Amino acid sequence: MTINTADLKRMFDTIAVAIEADKNRLCQLDGVIGDADHGIAMALGFNAVRDALASLDLAATEPTALLNTAAKSFLNAVGASSGPLYATAFMRGGAAVKGKATLADADFTALFQAMSQGIKDRGKAEPGEKTMVDAWQPAAEAAAAASVASKTLAQCLEAAHAAAERGAEATRDMIAAKGRSSRLGERSLGHVDPGAASAVTVIGAIRKSLS
Ligand code: ADP
Ligand code: MG
Repeated sequence: MTINTADLKRMFDTIAVAIEADKNRLCQLDGVIGDADHGIAMALGFNAVRDALASLDLAATEPTALLNTAAKSFLNAVGASSGPLYATAFMRGGAAVKGKATLADADFTALFQAMSQGIKDRGKAEPGEKTMVDAWQPAAEAAAAASVASKTLAQCLEAAHAAAERGAEATRDMIAAKGRSSRLGERSLGHVDPGAASAVTVIGAIRKSLS
């Protein structure tokens, strides 16, 4: 499969729809161990991305520029900590495919891995600290492993989605060590991290749009 900027725009549109549909659940999850705004923040961010990409001339836009536009609009729209985390993800994803007019399967896997690494670098969270990293990192590793094993992009993203689901579920048994919910300490036990939950939704939408 070859992915062009129109495919990437469709991908962001699919994410925006999925996040909008998940908004209340994400706010509820954040209400338990945070400040109840995570669904609103993510929906604001991805709706802003959708609006920004709608006014791009796709034929004259390379993937890197599209991802930079996504990063800027997400960052400007979101005041919560998910803002800079996803903005960095898109910027790093764009940097990973710099100079390419279209993306081959392996390019997209590299982009996906760079997004995950960007979130990790920006938030300085390690796996096990009950954040979105606990969904993104296993997803990126699963996609990379499937890519190295010459799987199709659809198979890579299926593996990534499944790993993200397992990773998000595993945050239930973690004590928050980063972000707002870290103030709760042990009281954060027993609850899924909202950022890890939304990562599953984002990755699921990426899979749906590119498979
Ligand atoms: P805020 O906490 O500012 O209200 P959100 O509610 O939008 O921001 O996002 C909360 C989510 O952000 C958390 O559930 C967690 O997954 C993620 N998060 C917070 N801090 C970090 C960090 N340092 N690194 C990675 N992810 C983080
Ligand atoms: Mg919040």
